[in-house]
Amino acid sequence: MLIGAHVGQEDPLGDARAMGLDAVQMFLGDPQSFSKPDPRPDAEELKTSGVPIYVHAPYRLNPCHPSPRIRVPSRKTLAQTVDAAAAIGAAGVIVHGGHAEDRPEEGPIRWWKVFEEREFPTRVLIENTAGGDNAVARYVDQIARLWEKLDGFEVGFCFDTCHAHAAGEDLVDVVERVLAVVGTIDVLHCNDSRDLPGTGADRHANIGKGKMDPEVIRAMIEASKAPVLILETPWPGVVDDLAWVREGLTRP
Ligand SMILES: [Zn+2]
Repeated sequence: MLIGAHVGQEDPLGDARAMGLDAVQMFLGDPQSFSKPDPRPDAEELKTSGVPIYVHAPYRLNPCHPSPRIRVPSRKTLAQTVDAAAAIGAAGVIVHGGHAEDRPEEGPIRWWKVFEEREFPTRVLIENTAGGDNAVARYVDQIARLWEKLDGFEVGFCFDTCHAHAAGEDLVDVVERVLAVVGTIDVLHCNDSRDLPGTGADRHANIGKGKMDPEVIRAMIEASKAPVLILETPWPGVVDDLAWVREGLTRP
């Protein structure tokens, strides 16, 4: 299992070296906007670094939004983000499952449109989300409906431990239930939560500092069989979280 963390955009490889990361995740622009990512002057260096880079799409994207005024720019920004990710040789682009505020059953159809419209040069990974009433990938049964609709497309899955906790899923077997639906978890986002289970709040915490049981998180890591683990916990505590993850992996 490769162990990485979400790092800043300034010097991702420098951060990887300083923290001993096997992989990194980063944004390619303002996470709150629809703006097109600027080309990176260090694209060639990133491409040939040997460090797997995962790009997180802006939070603002919602390809399932009822209004075409949000849905269409979301599709466009996702495509631009994937192109920019391909330019740096990224291993994947992670995007939240989104919300269909009008009719949740429209969500999988709107995602289908995303993949039907174009082929992506870099793999897109849809991530389970923490909250919202009309979420498209909050609960396992929603993910099942989404995956059924996307059958046949090249699409990956990113599982976030904090989001599953916030969603209100039973953490004892949620990873197994998700795997039964998606087949493979491509990336595991390993985070504790600042909030109680089922609150729907997306606020990450350092491992052992939040409301989740670290041993439950440990069991989720093992059950995920994910090839890549990314910590999205606050700095500087992420350094201790990395040590905690590694210690568990080397344990007999
Ligand atoms: Zn996440």
